[in-house]
Amino acid sequence: MTTESFRPEKKITTFYPPQRTLMGPGPSDTHPRVLSAMARPTLGHLDPVFTEMMEELKGLLRYVFQTTNLMTFPVSGPGSVGMEMCFVNMIVPGDKVVVCRNGVFGGRMIENVERCGGIPLVVEDKWGDPVDPQKVEDMLKKNPDAKIVAFVHAETSTGVQSDARTIAQIARKHDCLTIMDTVTSLGGTPVYMDAWDIDAIYSGSQKCLSCPPGLSPVSFSERVVDLVRNRTEKVHSWFMDISLLLGYWGASRTYHHTAPTNSLYGLHESLVILYEEGLERSWARHRRNHEALKAGLKTLGIEYVVAEPYRLPQLNSVYVPAGVDEKEVRRRLLDSYNLEIGAGLGDFAGKIWRFGLMGNSSKLENVVFCLDALEHVLIDMGVKVNRGTASSAAHQYYATNPVLA
Ligand SMILES: *Cc1c(COP(=O)(O)O)cnc(C)c1O
Repeated sequence: MTTESFRPEKKITTFYPPQRTLMGPGPSDTHPRVLSAMARPTLGHLDPVFTEMMEELKGLLRYVFQTTNLMTFPVSGPGSVGMEMCFVNMIVPGDKVVVCRNGVFGGRMIENVERCGGIPLVVEDKWGDPVDPQKVEDMLKKNPDAKIVAFVHAETSTGVQSDARTIAQIARKHDCLTIMDTVTSLGGTPVYMDAWDIDAIYSGSQKCLSCPPGLSPVSFSERVVDLVRNRTEKVHSWFMDISLLLGYWGASRTYHHTAPTNSLYGLHESLVILYEEGLERSWARHRRNHEALKAGLKTLGIEYVVAEPYRLPQLNSVYVPAGVDEKEVRRRLLDSYNLEIGAGLGDFAGKIWRFGLMGNSSKLENVVFCLDALEHVLIDMGVKVNRGTASSAAHQYYATNPVLA
């Protein structure tokens, strides 16, 4: 056999992706500053210049998580790896773990607990509802030997936000550690790791941080560090064992795995952007764009899934109007407008759309463009909606609600 026999039959050349506008549940539009940061020269993962940047990166992550935890760093892997990392380090077989499920990602937490040999105690809430703290309290009263409470702060599958502070308080009262998913909340809505007394937290680069997918910022309290240090049984994953990873992200700087250096430049740049903007201003921007989108959707007769007080500004889940082929709407938005919006998952498949306004995607241009595109597609498909009302309502909102200084 010659090398020629393995040549692909089709002629393959450089891949040029189309320029889309990403308004689904993630990834969001990568900030151009992040893309150019990632195109800079690759450094060795132990290069002193690179390790200096790693220190800044840890500092910036402490700022966005609002924590002083020393053990704060990005994991090389998507949000799912950050999730798994928390569970695999903190659970030993036989541990009881309270898991709150009100959507897809709570379900994945249960999977994680089971695969680590733990026993999940599931607190169920309806899709679209926040986690009910009273149910968490009841579960802990019934199970005084539970060790951990795990919950999703911003459930991306439904667009609901849960009351993290209250859940964490209840967990602490019952002597439990907490694991919180902030993949969609971080950067878009307030997260106060220390003030809320959260023990383990993970996030993702591609939602409100405006980076490409592939990195998962995590942070662990001293309690978690002690727990892992006192394990008698090795962590059931070599790659995700935080005590080994600390050899690289900690002071000794020894090789653990080859960190994705260019991706980390991107995360560094995205955090610099967030730091320059300021967390409060970023939260306010996400809120303002959500309100404008909401005003526009209302004129189209489109209704939200989640009750007003629990809505995530960065993830707008709405019911598909009756009789509308939701898949066809998404196809037309993508084909004619290069606009991606999200479909429903699980119980919500075929019933809802999810409009993401995350990170760099959360801006006036996107809100107005999306409303116009959606309105026109609906009209083309014979849906009775008023022409020109949606984006006008958004403009009206912007005009009467200026950006905070
Ligand atoms: C997207 C998401 C994840 C998973 O992140 P990946 O980067 O896709 O692995 C986990 N939890 C929530 C709440 C998410 O929105």
